[in-house]
Amino acid sequence: MLLLIPGPVMTHPDVRAAANRDIAPWDHDVRAEVGDLLARLRSLAGGADGVHAALPLPGSGHFMVEAAIRTFVSPSSEVGGILIPATGQYADRMVRLARDAGRRVTVMPASLTRPLDAAAVKAALSADPSISHLGLVYSETSTGVIHDPEAIGAVVRSLGRRMILDAVSAFGALPITMTDHPEIDALIFTPNKCLEALPGFSVAVCPVERAEARAGSAGSWSFDLGDIYVNGLANGPGAGRFTPPIQAMAALGAALDRLDAEGGPAARLQRYRDNMAALYDGLEALGLRPFLPRAIQGPIILNVHAPAHPDWDLRRFVEALKRHGVLISNFRNTEEPSMRIGAIGAIARPDILRAVAAIGETLDELGLRPKAHAA
Ligand SMILES: *Cc1c(COP(=O)(O)O)cnc(C)c1O
Repeated sequence: MLLLIPGPVMTHPDVRAAANRDIAPWDHDVRAEVGDLLARLRSLAGGADGVHAALPLPGSGHFMVEAAIRTFVSPSSEVGGILIPATGQYADRMVRLARDAGRRVTVMPASLTRPLDAAAVKAALSADPSISHLGLVYSETSTGVIHDPEAIGAVVRSLGRRMILDAVSAFGALPITMTDHPEIDALIFTPNKCLEALPGFSVAVCPVERAEARAGSAGSWSFDLGDIYVNGLANGPGAGRFTPPIQAMAALGAALDRLDAEGGPAARLQRYRDNMAALYDGLEALGLRPFLPRAIQGPIILNVHAPAHPDWDLRRFVEALKRHGVLISNFRNTEEPSMRIGAIGAIARPDILRAVAAIGETLDELGLRPKAHAA
């Protein structure tokens, strides 16, 4: 099955093979390997040795978004508070995680079809000096829009505030360099999106000084990034506090080897851009209408309007497409009926062309192909 979902993505057999063994996480050799993996991730994030650390947490990406909020945003609403631009569903989830953690949240209205306006962020932060943090989703996996951490980070920096960057569907392809972003408290990602590895844990790259200072303030031992950092100082950076998903960590090591061999994030981004161009062109040729104009469409995920047909049913379409060997997302993130198709993972243009052909055949089979484009 060709998975064109926005994670977990298709992986290379070498990556899966690396997980195919029994591993003792507490063994000293294995701790050293995990320490090396974390150092590689820190360096991939453009972090500096001794200044930044990559901190792992078992669980999916949302666990890390919660951990970052709990660790860095003070629960005292006099000194802490997070501004979250409502860029889409992943921003909404950040809002809920922060609220449920008892943090003060300010939601900033934002467009779903355009990158966030740095001037509007500046105005919102300036209007409330008690807001300590901005929570930004780099690649909004619900809309396909890529927001700009350079312009927005500069605003956050200039106002002396801090940033939590959800880079889950960006990291490994879209650029970010921690040493250029002293305002970032946590750069968050998972192995199973642009890094093309297996799910099971999440990572935040943080300034060590901040992590150490915040240890003990998360209101949760499990979600305390400061405690994870301090434990690494005491027992070695590869030492977990609790049982880590060690097979998923081994697979990520193999996936980083493949990323290096490909030419790093810039080369990977180019492959994803090629995938997206083929997908965008192919769907348009079938008579389908993408949500975003080409100039705004990001390289990660594409939302396309469902055919304007009274018989349209997403679930039925997804099931029929599966019989052609292609799996797309089975829920929509837009108010209007739509489908969501990923362009990331260990796939290339021929896979996308095969998927487009399968989508065309499925539309025909269900009598849903827009008339002017019927085969
Ligand atoms: C995938 C994703 C997450 C995390 O999702 P999980 O299912 O918890 O791993 C968070 N933010 C964004 C933008 C994502 O794309």
